[in-house]
Amino acid sequence: MSTDFVTRPSDQIREVKIERGYLKSCPASVLYSSGDTVVLCAASVEPSVPPWLEGKGKGWVTAEYNMLPGSTSPRKRRDRSKVDGRTTEIQRLIGRSLRSIIDLNALGEQMITVDCDVLQADGGTRTASITGGFIALADAVASIIPGSTIGNGPLLDSVAAISVGVIGDELKLDLDYELDSAADVDMNVIMTGSGRFVEIQGTGEEATFDDEQLAGLIRLAKKGIGELTTMQRSVLGQ
Ligand code: UDP
Repeated sequence: MSTDFVTRPSDQIREVKIERGYLKSCPASVLYSSGDTVVLCAASVEPSVPPWLEGKGKGWVTAEYNMLPGSTSPRKRRDRSKVDGRTTEIQRLIGRSLRSIIDLNALGEQMITVDCDVLQADGGTRTASITGGFIALADAVASIIPGSTIGNGPLLDSVAAISVGVIGDELKLDLDYELDSAADVDMNVIMTGSGRFVEIQGTGEEATFDDEQLAGLIRLAKKGIGELTTMQRSVLGQ
């Protein structure tokens, strides 16, 4: 789908577009695009927590992820009977990432669900879901605790994610589908705005990788996440 395989420099992220308040139906929603990958992140608040957390005075943040049938070609079948393994892995990753920067005690007994629906998939849908999902989460928190900002209220920090990979002897930042398909090694890096790691998923599928390549991939990811963090704070006006 994308043609930037040749034109985009190795250390540049794709163009990001962020539209806040995309839906009227929920307090916090963000249409997040990274190149041709487009994800709608919608955060809803419920005044209760899952049964295992009741009576503890703590809140909960969780995420659901889905690729719409028309988001890719051939179409992704709707599976009405069960959630597939990839979807389960991705939605748990999004939930863990968002919980890493929130003080659940400061949320009170409320649950925020961040729904990430992929409208168009061109690689990096989980990282887009985390980066866009954080903005929706921040707006949802501000809707229940007015005046809360990053570092003031339940949000302890921001969180963002990007993919990196090795293609031949080159290290690449932000893999679209074409790059992802060509990658010997691919890695998803999730970090806080203050530069701490939340999670790293790295796989050498076509080739193994060494310490030097790993260090280079992390350097690239940090650069990308730094840029995404600046954008997140800017759209949130913080
Ligand atoms: N993909 C697809 N159908 C699928 C799974 C993946 O078309 O059922 C494509 C889609 O473009 C996706 C890319 O493959 O973005 C890479 O998928 P991966 O599982 O690595 O996750 P992502 O990079 O999107 O987080």
